[in-house]
Amino acid sequence: MATAVRVAFRTMVSTLISLNAASPPPANAQVSQPLIAKVNAAVDADAARLIDIFKDLHQHPELGFTELRTSAIVAKELKALGFTVVENIGKTGVVGVMRNGPGPTVWFRADMDSNAVLEATGLPYASTTKQRLEDGSEIDVMHACGHDAHVTWLLGLAKTMTTLKNDWSGTLVVYAQPAEEPGTGAQAMVEDKLWERGFPKPDYAFGAHTAPGPVGYISSSPGVRMAGTDQLDITFHGIGGHGSTPQMTIDPIVMAAQAILSYQTIISRNLDPQASAVVTVGAVVAGRDNNVIPDKAILKLNLRWFNAADREQTLRRIDEINRGVAVAAGVSEDRMPTRAMKGNASPLVNDKALVTRINPLLETLVGAGKVINHFPAVMGSEDFQEAFKKLGNVPYAFILVGVAPLEMFEKARAAGRPFPYSNHNPDFFVDLAAIPIGAKVDAVAALAVLANQ
Ligand SMILES: [Zn+2]
Ligand SMILES: [Zn+2]
Repeated sequence: MATAVRVAFRTMVSTLISLNAASPPPANAQVSQPLIAKVNAAVDADAARLIDIFKDLHQHPELGFTELRTSAIVAKELKALGFTVVENIGKTGVVGVMRNGPGPTVWFRADMDSNAVLEATGLPYASTTKQRLEDGSEIDVMHACGHDAHVTWLLGLAKTMTTLKNDWSGTLVVYAQPAEEPGTGAQAMVEDKLWERGFPKPDYAFGAHTAPGPVGYISSSPGVRMAGTDQLDITFHGIGGHGSTPQMTIDPIVMAAQAILSYQTIISRNLDPQASAVVTVGAVVAGRDNNVIPDKAILKLNLRWFNAADREQTLRRIDEINRGVAVAAGVSEDRMPTRAMKGNASPLVNDKALVTRINPLLETLVGAGKVINHFPAVMGSEDFQEAFKKLGNVPYAFILVGVAPLEMFEKARAAGRPFPYSNHNPDFFVDLAAIPIGAKVDAVAALAVLANQ
């Protein structure tokens, strides 16, 4: 979610700069204060354990769908707290259920996977992990998106809700999702019959994500937060041959090049100028040798969009461009370019009523003016909401939690940089102070729905 976080926090920075010192007190601060004090006490008492868990997870990052160690830790911790636990959903997903009397059911998600990044933080608990890929190659792996913190927060939430069992009523489902980074983990859990296993269905759902804003600040905004996205591969089928005899071939690389440039006109010439969308060609895969014209070229595309009509128009124009280019190159009807859809996520849209409900409590937790609730939407994407799509309208809120040390953040600002680092950067790190804060944010959000009235 790097792009999202980066843009969101760029906005957070400008918001902070323009922030009025005196924000109005939250409406129900009086009512929520004692319970929030209990959350503070419960998480503070658990903080040392959580920091140990976090450091351990940070030292043992695992790429999407290989989160075996991480998911085993989640399952073990949840079982010890009395959750009913089901493992290996969508390969490594873990779901833990705690039934605590009548009331709504809340699902809370943490993603588990890490990134193919060589850590440069120099932290004593930095990752030195290398992971072997299917092709035999070895790559450096680190938690550069803070999913290790998300898992830790989730375990803090689970423990806190166990401790405060007498203060809430309903069902809490905490779950650890594989493979958020490739955008396919939530879908994998759904395809592995997540909703046919008898789990109580969510009345509300939450997710929390790290962002390189200052520790102690969070973003919780209503409405459309993140764009929808598609990953797709286009294959141009040509006729290969000798590089010296192009007249005997149909060069797929030339077709691909023409298509790449034509795609640039979809946003600028076809979509409504007020629409926001992105067409990115992230990879061009074709050929090997200087003197061989290959018989095919593959383009790996990524789309971002906010409404289904823009998505459909973009896909239709991609198909028309591909076909037009191929026809012009003399490709026969039976060898027209093909399009393979590889992954998709809808826009992330936070429920307004839910955000309105949790924000005053979050503000009581972190302090007046520290809950930023008016971020513009970003072109980044998440697959969090994909888990609930099949169920219809599940109201959810996805919360961003600042994890950069305040002094580092201020130093970066003084140097003209809006933030000290971004997610997915080799220097990305989660200030340990953000570990208890994130667990508290998770717990307060859950209690905003589940607390005894
Ligand atoms: Zn990420
Ligand atoms: Zn992430």
